[in-house]
Amino acid sequence: MIKKTNANYFQVAQGVWGMKLTFVNIYMIANRRGVKKGWVLIDTGPKGSAHKIIAMAEALFGVGTRPTAIILTHGHTDHVGSLKTLLKHWDVPVYAHEYELPYLTGKSSYPPPDPTVGGGAISFFSVLFSRKPLKLGNRVRVIDMATGVPELPEWKIIYTPGHSPGHISLFFPLNTTLIVGDAFVTTKAESPVYALGNIKKLSGPPMYATTDWESAKESVTRLAALEPRIAGTGHGPVMRGRELQAALNELVENFDDVAVPKNGRYSEQPVISDETGVLYVPPFKTNRKFVAATIITGLVAGFIIARQIHKSVS
Ligand SMILES: [Zn+2]
Ligand SMILES: [Zn+2]
Repeated sequence: MIKKTNANYFQVAQGVWGMKLTFVNIYMIANRRGVKKGWVLIDTGPKGSAHKIIAMAEALFGVGTRPTAIILTHGHTDHVGSLKTLLKHWDVPVYAHEYELPYLTGKSSYPPPDPTVGGGAISFFSVLFSRKPLKLGNRVRVIDMATGVPELPEWKIIYTPGHSPGHISLFFPLNTTLIVGDAFVTTKAESPVYALGNIKKLSGPPMYATTDWESAKESVTRLAALEPRIAGTGHGPVMRGRELQAALNELVENFDDVAVPKNGRYSEQPVISDETGVLYVPPFKTNRKFVAATIITGLVAGFIIARQIHKSVS
């Protein structure tokens, strides 16, 4: 049973709406062309968000509405966490890129995140994020990159790998609106202060989960070349106009300095993967800063536990 709730969504562009779920955004796009009129859901947010997504859909499109399809920008847990619950409620096709399929059909786990990069607590605790693949079986369909998604014929699907092997973004040429996913984001995804507070700062893809930086750079370059006027990203607030274009061009120019982490596990060598999943993961490099952070966290946790024990026995 899905509990009812109020939806707190925002408009991105004409026929496009978004909603922030803890620190991840989902989007809904209306489709008024072609044979499959209706609306499409992009990503599904973290686990436990299904009731909020359904409430948003019903507020926008009416009680009992359902999307014609769900499109995944990629399969990381914070973007597919509510997918299974939603599919129990809405029996609709799910689309993803061919290279993302192994992580959605139980064939492969994502490579481990790199907790040493970005210097934020979210990076540090990223090791706790689930990497286990979903098992969607034949409910997930491969996106035909030549023709796009039939339920959304006016939107182009752009292949933007790097953050994950089969990452895609969506682009509406008529008003140059971009639904980016995590190819770049508009906050510092590694920092809880930025990510939870929705503080605006155009940045490269979340560092802890990006496993091919060369591809990530090419993807951001490809998106910047589209000269988008509106960008809705997987993390952070919507960015528009000159602010967006200037920040995006700056990111492309300085990508190696500002986006690629120094001494990260994947900074020099990428994870290698194909349509079957992960083939090669570079070895973990211990990094002095990370070891120090681990020791400090361990000491703080030890201190708190010791105090609790002391309180309970005294
Ligand atoms: Zn991601
Ligand atoms: Zn994300």
